[in-house]
Amino acid sequence: HQHSKLPAGSYRSTCCYCGVGCGIIVNRDRQGNISVEGDKDHPVNRGMLCSKGMNLHYTVMDTSDRLLYPEMRYHRHMPRQRVSWDQALDRAAAAFRQIIEKYGPESVAFYASGQCLTEEYYVVNKLIKGFIGSNNIDTNSRLCMSSAVAAYKLALGEDSVPGNYDDIELTDCIFVAGANPAWCHPILWRRVEAAKKANPSLKIIVSDPRVTQSCALADLHLQVMPGTDIVLHHAIGRLLIEQGHTDHTFIQQHTEGFERYRETVMQRSIASAAAICDIPESSIREAAALIGKSRRFMTLWTMGLNQSVVGVNKNLSLINLHLITGHIGKPGSGPFSLTGQPNAMGGREVGGLANLLPAHRVLDNPAHRKEVQEFWGGVPLSEKPGLTATEMFEALEDGRLKAIWIMCTNPLVSLPDARKAEAALAKAKLVIVQEISSKPETLRYADIILPAAAWTEKEGTMTNAERRITHLQKVNDAPGEALPDAEIICRFAKKMGFHGFDYNTPAEIYEEHCRLTTGTRIDISGLDYNILQQKRSVQWPFPEGTENAGTPRLFTDHRFYTPSAKAIIHSFEDGNKSVPPDPLHPLILTTGRIRDQWHTMSKTGKVSKLKQHIPAPLLEIHPLDAAARGIRADDIVEIFNGNGQVRVKAQLSTSIKKGVVFLPMHWGKILNNDLNRANNLTHTLVDKISKQPDLKFAAVEVQPYRKQ
Ligand code: SF4
Repeated sequence: HQHSKLPAGSYRSTCCYCGVGCGIIVNRDRQGNISVEGDKDHPVNRGMLCSKGMNLHYTVMDTSDRLLYPEMRYHRHMPRQRVSWDQALDRAAAAFRQIIEKYGPESVAFYASGQCLTEEYYVVNKLIKGFIGSNNIDTNSRLCMSSAVAAYKLALGEDSVPGNYDDIELTDCIFVAGANPAWCHPILWRRVEAAKKANPSLKIIVSDPRVTQSCALADLHLQVMPGTDIVLHHAIGRLLIEQGHTDHTFIQQHTEGFERYRETVMQRSIASAAAICDIPESSIREAAALIGKSRRFMTLWTMGLNQSVVGVNKNLSLINLHLITGHIGKPGSGPFSLTGQPNAMGGREVGGLANLLPAHRVLDNPAHRKEVQEFWGGVPLSEKPGLTATEMFEALEDGRLKAIWIMCTNPLVSLPDARKAEAALAKAKLVIVQEISSKPETLRYADIILPAAAWTEKEGTMTNAERRITHLQKVNDAPGEALPDAEIICRFAKKMGFHGFDYNTPAEIYEEHCRLTTGTRIDISGLDYNILQQKRSVQWPFPEGTENAGTPRLFTDHRFYTPSAKAIIHSFEDGNKSVPPDPLHPLILTTGRIRDQWHTMSKTGKVSKLKQHIPAPLLEIHPLDAAARGIRADDIVEIFNGNGQVRVKAQLSTSIKKGVVFLPMHWGKILNNDLNRANNLTHTLVDKISKQPDLKFAAVEVQPYRKQ
């Protein structure tokens, strides 16, 4: 791919919001004003940007909310004071040493983010696993992608997205499951829209309890009840088998487990599946016919499948449809999990989760642990998995965890059962918050605040949902004394007396990460910043000697990464394990995003244009459910269950299923009012394999709110 040379004052970057990973040109004029435009040379977005990306410059230019200096306090009841970096990091290192000496390395933890750059992830993972000697690092990616990761590993032998975005233009049929890409992955959806326009015979199926914007393009909408995805996927699987749409040769030569799967899906009739999903039987038959007749078939999914107590099985049940039809490893065909965050994939490359080691190595493999320890030259790596996101807050609650270092994430809005998480954080002996914004509620609990550089103020790399790595150039300096996250972590590591953190540039960190991937399945040993800048973006693997732009498609030879080289078709029951509705809480709450906001709004919340679309949280409720409770449009309603309450306006809408209500997840606590926070109502229940919380399903009741 050829790239035009940029004029002085223009820099290439990548959008720091969603996992689509759009290329951006950032322009800085002589007065320091920043503007952004879509990068026409970037293969992902070809110059397009969505409303969030288009307004990114406002988030950079407005520094009114930024943290400018380190601050600390010695006691919770004391006010924090501005200190120098040395004072803050000396204090952090002394406190960490003291806690580790007294309670052991597992008494401290880092909670990071899918928005960190790969280099930042790499150094913090190296610090805790390789030198502190604990695996207590997890990120908010646990709330986002971990079920998809676990399912890929179980089915294909490796956390590997097989295809790429070009498949959208090549496919005959797209099944979008539990996702609303028209709002949450908008540029990708524009490619779907364009593909449909160019090829009207392209069929699109959407399954979602809500009629979303994505349904406008769909040939078929399956408005399923929350938690019934496995039933639906199994029923489609049954019909594909019964109607002879499976690929026998592929099943025989390249898969294991088909017979058991066949027996499992035959146990439930299509009529019974339709009743459980609460959709017409004919819709399931139509979906199976569309998939069965297509020569190329791809699936796109996100949180509707991932954020579930049975998230891994939901993912596997969808991947199974590819394995029984042989639609994988071919142009236009394959399972494709859409990443929520811009660099969740990069975080996994460096092993930045509680159960991983660098380059997708695993903790329970002694050879992997030895390789990494020898490479880093630190302490022996622990084989005991670290605490995952929700486990960290449980461990704070019961006192096992004493110190938590939160970087680049806002857990008191994004974690399930947020009030409980807040109470747990209040119990910590030491809270360190590394942040760009002065807004997040976590800062209230921080003993040490470390101001971090934002998107354009640092250099590094990110990997998008299609394994595409792009380099982000630094454009401007951070305000005040804010520092890039990697530099903060390295300075701290040196204060702790650890060697191996003397990097002069992010490029050196990246080179070390690339070397550590040598010989693994995600080998990028052929990569460095120069090559990335030349090629603009590449797709991993990219081993030494790679000439082209990497590997656009995996499993083209149908050899998978399992011991037998065959993909595994998994069988399991189709039930959901969420806390079920009861007579006192008969409605199912599902949470999600709106078009113009991102996560917990620390960036998008600053842009007034983005507030115009939906300025405040609303409860979507079906008119029949509303009428039964005496609720009229725009009434203030209280949504409640055993975990807490939320109080917002009601929006009566037939686009939500009867019996289901929807709340956006973006809003948090404003001053002392936490009644906008959807996660007051969600449960800490997690999938037993992926440890991803059940954020899409909570039994609630709704009533009109009347002031006492
Ligand atoms: Fe950014 Fe995602 Fe929008 Fe692209 S689609 S501009 S990556 S938010």
